[in-house]
Amino acid sequence: IKAKDRGLTARYRPSMLERSQQQAAIEGDLRQAIINNELSMVYQPIVDVNTHTVVSMEALIRWKHPEKGFIPPDQFIPIAESSGIMILLGRWIINQVAIDCQFLKGTELEGVRVAINISRIQFVDDSFSDYLQSCLVEQFPKNQKLTLEVTESTLHNDAEHSVNTVKELLDENIQFALDDFGTGYSSFISLKEFHVDNVKIDRSFISRCDEVKDDETLVKAIIEMAHTMGFSVTAEGVENEAQLMKLQELKCDFIQGYFFSKPLPIEQVIKQGSWYGEK
Ligand code: C2E
Ligand code: CA
Ligand code: CA
Ligand code: CA
Repeated sequence: IKAKDRGLTARYRPSMLERSQQQAAIEGDLRQAIINNELSMVYQPIVDVNTHTVVSMEALIRWKHPEKGFIPPDQFIPIAESSGIMILLGRWIINQVAIDCQFLKGTELEGVRVAINISRIQFVDDSFSDYLQSCLVEQFPKNQKLTLEVTESTLHNDAEHSVNTVKELLDENIQFALDDFGTGYSSFISLKEFHVDNVKIDRSFISRCDEVKDDETLVKAIIEMAHTMGFSVTAEGVENEAQLMKLQELKCDFIQGYFFSKPLPIEQVIKQGSWYGEK
């Protein structure tokens, strides 16, 4: 296929040098962003596939740059990770989530579990579990339930240390979810040692699970295998009712996606309440 046909002709390709300059610029801007309050967290509800009640919500970061506008996390998180500010940023995220959780008190969503994405960089930092523990005691509402969302690369690099960190944190209030399941070198056997509670099937498998037989077969197999091993399953990126029906039929447990709600600021999630029925 010619580049033109794929609509890539006009696309500007930065050189290596330009790219590293852009990265350095974003890195500097990101340090400022933390200081200048340009960052915020939004929350996307995760609902029970059958009852449509909110079981948890995922915290996702947003960055509104004063000149460049919104910069997506897929763009700046990797830069934060490679530049050494991910630990600082990760702490900012946990603190902000703690502040936002205070708003849940007295609402329908009081006590709901909140999921936070934890970068591999944070997870293998020696002080991570102590830091999280102190935030839970001092900043979060009492007995706040958290899910830490990690990817397989987190579990497989520096594995031994990660396992110990996980074990130190283990308690009924903290769960682990494996993010983007199906995209990496997935092995259910290795998941067993890591105390994963929930598996999140990547959006790329969900988007056509109601149309493409192979995708359906794969999603079905993942759900059955996960259940056999004692994990619950969340489907990411559910955008329409056909996908929801299919996932119900396949006995998926939890649903997350634009069909129910986009990620929203905490006040708006609270306004939407705890039930997404009768739409
Ligand atoms: P992720 O953890 O896999 O997050 C799910 C992404 O899918 C989010 O994109 C969410 O807005 C998007 N999404 C949810 N439902 C739908 C849907 O129905 N359709 C479509 N097309 N998309 C949907 P977002 O917020 O842009 O985040 C992208 C990635 O950036 C995240 O992927 C995660 O890897 C990273 N990220 C975001 N926030 C944080 C954070 O606070 N900490 C860390 N370490 N990483 C984060
Ligand atoms: Ca996630
Ligand atoms: Ca994901
Ligand atoms: Ca991702």
